[in-house]
Amino acid sequence: MTESIQDTDIAIVGGGMAGASLALLLAHHCPQLNVALLERQSVSAVETPLTLPSFDTRATAIAAGSLSIFSQLGLWPALQEFAEPIRQVQVSDRGHSLGASLDARREKAASFDGMLGAVIENAVLGPLLYRALEKTSVQLLDNAQVTDVEMLSSGAKLHIQRADNISSLQTRLLVIADGAGSALCNRLGILTSKVDYQQQALVTTVGLQRDHRGIAFERFTDTGPMALLPLPKRHGVHRAALVWTCEESAQPSLADLPERDFIRHLQQTFGWRAGRIIRAGKVHSYPLTLSLAREQVRRGVVLVGNSAHFLHPVAGQGFNLTLRDCDGLARTIGRTVAEKGPDFVRTGPGELDLLEAYWRERQHDQQLTIGFSDKIPPLFASRNLLTSGLRQLGLLGLALTPATRTAFARQAAGITA
Ligand SMILES: Cc1cc2nc3c(=O)[nH]c(=O)nc-3n(C[C@H](O)[C@H](O)[C@H](O)COP(=O)(O)OP(=O)(O)OC[C@H]3O[C@@H](n4cnc5c(N)ncnc54)[C@H](O)[C@@H]3O)c2cc1C
Repeated sequence: MTESIQDTDIAIVGGGMAGASLALLLAHHCPQLNVALLERQSVSAVETPLTLPSFDTRATAIAAGSLSIFSQLGLWPALQEFAEPIRQVQVSDRGHSLGASLDARREKAASFDGMLGAVIENAVLGPLLYRALEKTSVQLLDNAQVTDVEMLSSGAKLHIQRADNISSLQTRLLVIADGAGSALCNRLGILTSKVDYQQQALVTTVGLQRDHRGIAFERFTDTGPMALLPLPKRHGVHRAALVWTCEESAQPSLADLPERDFIRHLQQTFGWRAGRIIRAGKVHSYPLTLSLAREQVRRGVVLVGNSAHFLHPVAGQGFNLTLRDCDGLARTIGRTVAEKGPDFVRTGPGELDLLEAYWRERQHDQQLTIGFSDKIPPLFASRNLLTSGLRQLGLLGLALTPATRTAFARQAAGITA
């Protein structure tokens, strides 16, 4: 049976970090519009961990620019309760004494409330976003799998399966936020360019013997970059989130090691800058690719999040870039609604002119950020003398020149203006 549910101005397909954040931003910047958020998993039991891929055991480094976006949405007090501030970033290269550091006290232009950023566990961020969504007019349809899409002159028609029930929904603007390898993009013939880094990220939470003092460590090793991000203390244990990128061939043995052996390898590779590592949780691994959609806007359609760009996690840029995209999109729609008046509200959010204006505004930041996260891993993974010399020069520049340091800090903090 096909039944029609309420049509909408904007339908977001995918309720991960990208879709849920965009829904909040649209509710804030364009309250006149009807927004529906469709997610195939259950999100109603917000007090229990969500099973969505975005909100798994990872932690996310939220840059200063993103904290300021969340703050404008009124989310900072809730975030602050669970997030650990990043006061300093220390960048170092294994086997060389040279290192560089960024300090929130020095990089005032790249900091928010005295911090360069904050780290929050995804399992905490998810329920927090969904609790905030409950206070908006966004219509949330969970357990709702979009199975097909048809483009219409007035927007798009979505076919939705919820349990045994098949329904359809018409929307002026379809936002594709269904993640990397997007089935909806496939359905619409939107192609993707892919680079396989032939690396995987090992992700886990570690216990430290001493306090991390709000330091985020970026360590470059022969096999790939590692990040150790400060987390709030739990049950008296100092904790940090580890992202350890290494060649795919190293994976099965490292991820499957007993805790004690994993810690020994980790300590050997990472060194002692964060002191002794005393615990390691379950290790999860993520294959790393750079995946870029060849089109991000069409009449009636826009892509956000991993469906638009899936980046190497080395500098914690993926979600931060997405949040700036979502903020840009919501602001562009809100501005156009304000300029063109009430008639536009019911007809215009899918107009190509509007979507192209959004895309023009976001292109520069996307190119810079994607370039930043794509160029660093090969440079730092190389054993080649020339590239190893170059990265030492890079670190030297970062250590010695305030201008280079500030440019790096601003890029890492997601402050692009
Ligand atoms: C190891 C690692 C560490 C990272 N660390 C950082 C970091 O520190 N800082 C940072 O900024 N970024 C980081 N990132 C990037 C960040 O995780 C991504 O930007 C984020 O997950 C983007 O999520 P998304 O919502 O686009 O996609 P997803 O999380 O994949 O969400 C897509 C959602 O769509 C739903 N869906 C799919 N198909 C359908 C359908 N047909 N109908 C309805 N629903 C559907 C899925 O159930 C899912 O919930 C990291 C990434 C990795 C891999």
